[in-house]
Amino acid sequence: AKRSGNTHVVTFDRCLFERSARQFQIESALPDAIAKGDIEIYYQPIIDTQRGCIAGFEALSRWKHPELGMIPPPEFILAATDSGHISKLTQYVLRQSCEAFRPHLANPECPYLGVNISVSDIYTGDLPNRLAEILKETGMPASRLILEVTEDMLLHDENSAIEVLAQIRSQGVRIAIDDFGTGYSSMGYLSKYQVHLIKIDRSFVQNIATSSQDQKIVRAISSMARDLELSIITEGVETTEQSDLLRKMGCLLQQGYLFGKPQPAAQWAVNANR
Ligand code: C2E
Ligand code: CA
Ligand code: CA
Ligand code: CA
Repeated sequence: AKRSGNTHVVTFDRCLFERSARQFQIESALPDAIAKGDIEIYYQPIIDTQRGCIAGFEALSRWKHPELGMIPPPEFILAATDSGHISKLTQYVLRQSCEAFRPHLANPECPYLGVNISVSDIYTGDLPNRLAEILKETGMPASRLILEVTEDMLLHDENSAIEVLAQIRSQGVRIAIDDFGTGYSSMGYLSKYQVHLIKIDRSFVQNIATSSQDQKIVRAISSMARDLELSIITEGVETTEQSDLLRKMGCLLQQGYLFGKPQPAAQWAVNANR
């Protein structure tokens, strides 16, 4: 964080020190937090605006550190990556969320579960086999699970990413490209990695009501997705105006504060059964 200090040098040094002290504190508390179940999973609904029902939920991690308070997920995900704990964290999130999903399985209109995975999960930690174990142990049908990966994740080592995603797909688990449009998007990726779904980033939705540029981009992504027979979800929908515009552009699956913030599983079950 940038601070208004007297001199840049002092400010910079202090920030660097504070940052690394904080990061150290986060990294060292993380293994225990995972083991003790201190990281809570919240669920945000994805709405099928055409049918007016919940199409799915995205699992989002929440960690309240005893001294530091709520830590933003990207910060502890990065700490987990740097300290080598990311595959443990991902497996924890997968297991917890698949278990939380159990009450929904009896529902004939059972929604799907979206779980975020990180770049290191693709390249370390044997994700396909761990995933198979978790599905078996929790009784979660593979067809109900979608793993969300970001475009940048696919840049590092193309061949191993293709291989890992193919192993995941062969179990019946679907793949979504998260934050679509913000990274090194290329149409080539979509067929090369055989993704099922793209999530249009919130940055395109934010100003959709006023920016004709953003409208054009979303319209283009939407028609491309239709041609490729991919589903699209638009993220960060906050107003009915945005929602209506997006629907007209063919973006029927929507996620955002307009429909619901991420909530603990207990609340989610109540809302979904209403
Ligand atoms: P993401 O996957 O793009 O998740 C969407 C983020 O947007 C979430 O932030 C969600 O709370 C927020 N959001 C949803 N609707 C709205 C809206 O209408 N307006 C605004 N302003 N924000 C909205 P969150 O939970 O803070 O997570 C941030 C990022 O951290 C996620 O971005 C994801 O990349 C990462 N993350 C969170 N949980 C996990 C996890 O369990 N594993 C991994 N690998 N990454 C995670
Ligand atoms: Ca996501
Ligand atoms: Ca996203
Ligand atoms: Ca994001």
